Amino acid sequence: MTKLINKYKTLSPYFYSPESLPNYPEVKLLKMNDNLLGELVGEMSSVERAEWVNLVSGTDSILGIETMALAYSGHQFGHFNPTLGDGRALLLGQIETSKGLLDLQLKGSGRTKYSRRGDGKSALGPAIREYIVSEYMNTLGVPTTRSLAVVSTGENVFREEGELAGGMLTRVAHGHIRIGTFEFALHFHGESGVKELADHVIENYYPDLLNHSDKYFEFYKTLSENYLNLVCKWMSLGFIHGVMNTDNASVTGETIDYGPCAFMDEFNFQKVFSFIDQQGRYRYANQPRIALWNLSVLGMCLSHLIDQNKVETELQRLADSFPQKELTSFARKLGVTILDENSSKLVRAWIATIEKNHLDFTQSFYFLTKSVEQKQLNPFFENVSELKDLFSELPKLNPNPVLMRKTNPSLIPRNHQIEEVIQSAYKGEMNPFYEMLKSLENPFNEMAESDKLFASPLQHERVKNTFCGT
Ligand code: AMP
Ligand code: MG
Repeated sequence: MTKLINKYKTLSPYFYSPESLPNYPEVKLLKMNDNLLGELVGEMSSVERAEWVNLVSGTDSILGIETMALAYSGHQFGHFNPTLGDGRALLLGQIETSKGLLDLQLKGSGRTKYSRRGDGKSALGPAIREYIVSEYMNTLGVPTTRSLAVVSTGENVFREEGELAGGMLTRVAHGHIRIGTFEFALHFHGESGVKELADHVIENYYPDLLNHSDKYFEFYKTLSENYLNLVCKWMSLGFIHGVMNTDNASVTGETIDYGPCAFMDEFNFQKVFSFIDQQGRYRYANQPRIALWNLSVLGMCLSHLIDQNKVETELQRLADSFPQKELTSFARKLGVTILDENSSKLVRAWIATIEKNHLDFTQSFYFLTKSVEQKQLNPFFENVSELKDLFSELPKLNPNPVLMRKTNPSLIPRNHQIEEVIQSAYKGEMNPFYEMLKSLENPFNEMAESDKLFASPLQHERVKNTFCGT
């Protein structure tokens, strides 16, 4: 069996709590991500694979494995909560791969020191949802945690919806340290705690910066840039994370903690899915601002290591440059690579018109690609007269349909379809889950119009709210 190590053990013990593996006697494998497993360990014998099945089931302890839950704090919806941490997750350890060291974590593995009043468990639905969405993000090249496996635990959990089958996900990430981990360090252990954590993060995740004369600021700058690039990618896909609390903001720049997330169906800048986000703090259009807000919290945590004027200047620079970054990525969706005054105006007009007319986000860009290819506006846009004029102006910008094909997926995991897959899984039917994963392996499929996943939801199918639900 591949050896697991655990570098978190080099941190002061207050950063984690040793916890044992779950005990789910009736656990059953529902999905192993064999592609990802192959990426992690290369070729393996059937005996080795069986050992991996045991590992993702939490039933087998590898000799010397040191499982733990990590401590963190966080700002939840803008309010500081000092005592969060892995309340329903267990870090198994790290594995050396060609992509560097990767963390393996079970999610839904039972109570830990940080569970507070929770049961530490997960229903099957959220495990399936995270698997689908995170793997899709990876297929599209969006930095993200990965999903290695889903198991059913054989136990039921009690949630608002009632009694549900339990599930557990195995998550793979570059790291599990969050902005909230820095807040934890500062709140409970002061400047020395923060410095220890910052040194650990730089050594393990930003080793190129180790010898830099201002390494803490360089780390901050690199992460900040990566975080905003990440959010820009979300925006260009119509993705809403749903719960961008600082404890859900990774310092390795990956999309992490898929809870009440969703891809929008109809384009709406103010779209909110998460039921608990009553103020719309994490609405679609607010995500860049929230990323900056989260980074300002990190900046404060690092205040004894970084000149705060530099932090402020950096945040201002990022805030000022984001609109252009976003416009550039949307221009690419229109096949436009040169952004001057004219093209910028036209790109903005397209976006505004699609949004104003509540068109489906994904289908709009898909059918626009088709329109450009066929040099005639697709009937999809039939009812929007302004678009006829805009379309007649588009050839001036020389849009590149090949580029458009690469940036405008035809398939996204739509909420109502994920919901259907989950409901089937609760009935013991896993095929819809497997079929959805199969379709989503080809998000740019040009033959997708007949695919079930292509369709936007009918009125009665619309999912208005999503829940953390785990
Ligand atoms: P989230 O923002 O959903 O990632 O989670 C916020 C906090 O609640 C984290 O500290 C989680 O570990 C904790 N949490 C969420 N669900 C549970 C649960 N079922 N049992 C224990 N802790 C939980
Ligand atoms: Mg979280």
